[in-house]
Amino acid sequence: MTLPSTTFELALTPRPCDICGRRELEKVWSFRHIAKTAHEHFLFNNTVVICPQCGFSFVSPCPAQEGLNRYYTDALSYFKNQDVAYSVDTRIRLAQKYIPQDSDVIEIGSNRMTGFHEECARHFRSFRTIELKPDCGSDFARADQVPPASCDAVLHFYVLEHISDPKAFLKQMHAILRDGGIMICEVPSTRNYPNYIGDFIYWEHLSHFTLGTLSRLARLCGFSLISDETLPCSHRCGFSAVFKKEKQDPGEVRFDSAEYAETMASYKITLGKKDYFFAEIDRIRGRMTEVTGRGGTVILWGVNDIMRRLVLDWPGLNDNMIFIDDDPRKADFLDGLTVRRPEEIANRIKTAQLAVLTTERFQPVILGKIQQQFNKEFSPAEVEVIDWNR
Ligand SMILES: [Zn+2]
Repeated sequence: MTLPSTTFELALTPRPCDICGRRELEKVWSFRHIAKTAHEHFLFNNTVVICPQCGFSFVSPCPAQEGLNRYYTDALSYFKNQDVAYSVDTRIRLAQKYIPQDSDVIEIGSNRMTGFHEECARHFRSFRTIELKPDCGSDFARADQVPPASCDAVLHFYVLEHISDPKAFLKQMHAILRDGGIMICEVPSTRNYPNYIGDFIYWEHLSHFTLGTLSRLARLCGFSLISDETLPCSHRCGFSAVFKKEKQDPGEVRFDSAEYAETMASYKITLGKKDYFFAEIDRIRGRMTEVTGRGGTVILWGVNDIMRRLVLDWPGLNDNMIFIDDDPRKADFLDGLTVRRPEEIANRIKTAQLAVLTTERFQPVILGKIQQQFNKEFSPAEVEVIDWNR
């Protein structure tokens, strides 16, 4: 793997088990990934481990938070016209079910504003947001800017798994809450990884939770679980949990030996699918070579991290493989490879023999747009979709 000159290698720090403190951990798999933000490249060296004592799985050693802050500050916020990836209604129902209306509420890691935020701002006494990314219009950039005991509820959706020290984060949530305050949390579930391997192989994910490991970790930070397993979740990959801030020390937190076996059973399937994903990359590369070898054109639509995995450092690229994305900010995302807007290369789209799409979710939208805007219909055999949730 060749490193771009602007690559920032994330420093690693030792990380014993956050729940039981154990240092002897079992390695599940390790990988390197170069991620691109707006102005820099970041090299992740991740080793996913599992604690044989309590079953908690996480990245150890772990990227230091300072480097992660630099990464997230420069990461692109979501493409503004993209659909929201979660159910706004489920989030609203969750928040309104567990949080009284006369509450001061704060969300951490809100990213760009959606209907969920508008509804919360209308519904609760006050609603504020914390987001590192500067272009999201948030009230705070960091949680330590929020005064202690100033909120009745905190919300964080798909944030905790990105934090290098989740215990420190949860203690901070405890500190900004008033007594008896509510914390609503959603994270990806290791139980769902066999269907959503992207959450397992995603370099930003530094902890891998079950409801059991999350609630034990939260208990160590002064929270008790008040919801059950059947709680609806706003994203199909995860689970949600509701906690209450307790005053007293949690006392002894017991481990459940079944956690280890359960997570390992899920990982066994997930690792097989992960190997399949990388084999698919090889297969699709082979088809691209074959089509362009006989003079055909391949369009590659959707410049994202899957596209980076597909093409970067691959010597088989040629000029008849054309990268397309609607978002002009993606122009530099492929390290010097030209990314075009669809309307710039209408003729190549019309005559292409193969379309490679890097998102399953937007496949119908993209193919519909190609048909409508360019009057070009690809047969099913002329479309390859690569997505890590297949
Ligand atoms: Zn442990």
